[in-house]
Amino acid sequence: MSNRIILLGAPGSGKGTQARQLAGEWGVPQIATGDMLREAAAQGSPLGLEAKRHMDSGALVPDGVVIGLVAERLGRPDAKAGFVLDGFPRTVTQAEALDRLLGEQGLPLERVVFLDVSREELLRRLTGRRVCRQCGTAYHLVSAPPRTADRCDLCQGDLYQRADDAPAAVARRLDVYEKQTAPLLAYYERRGLLAAVRGEGAMDGVTAGIRKAVRGAGAA
Ligand code: ADP
Ligand code: ZN
Repeated sequence: MSNRIILLGAPGSGKGTQARQLAGEWGVPQIATGDMLREAAAQGSPLGLEAKRHMDSGALVPDGVVIGLVAERLGRPDAKAGFVLDGFPRTVTQAEALDRLLGEQGLPLERVVFLDVSREELLRRLTGRRVCRQCGTAYHLVSAPPRTADRCDLCQGDLYQRADDAPAAVARRLDVYEKQTAPLLAYYERRGLLAAVRGEGAMDGVTAGIRKAVRGAGAA
């Protein structure tokens, strides 16, 4: 089973939910730069507050900041067993830095899975999304509501709407994705790493599609 993978997709494509599920199954860390940045922001460190300004408006956090965070995270012992990268890389500069980092460690990427979701569906998902403040589980007001309003089913944590899920920020994030992140599809296609999976329909079906795409890599 191949276990050094990237989940690539637009905001709202379901990367986070799928990455959490698969990393759990495979016993490898989910490395989610959005979660790491939100954590830094919640702790109020200078780096976190700087990141928050970019995130709240729907812009990207500067490459140097994010690359530094990921380099540190990939250097920890648990990442030797593999990882599911979620939300990184998001620019060609980040992808090149990742290649260098993994090359130095002799641990090349095995698969890049693109979660393909239409723009209409992305908009619907993002504007109705509510997230647990404690455990990060995502809900949707219409299609996946919690059993009790504003409470997480799993941990009873508070549900909230991310500042960047407000309509103006959502539009900006989708534009940023098209301009800065979508070019990564060609980047990984050229390296023979890319597999596309349809990200619409039932959550379990999407998970199965990703598993299949990853097995298709044929690594150990
Ligand atoms: P989504 O994919 O739904 O936008 P994320 O939690 O992955 O959610 O990211 C939220 C925000 O965090 C992004 O809009 C961006 O501001 C910041 N961010 C996350 N990952 C990166 C990254 N690799 N490079 C730059 N900014 C990032
Ligand atoms: Zn929770």
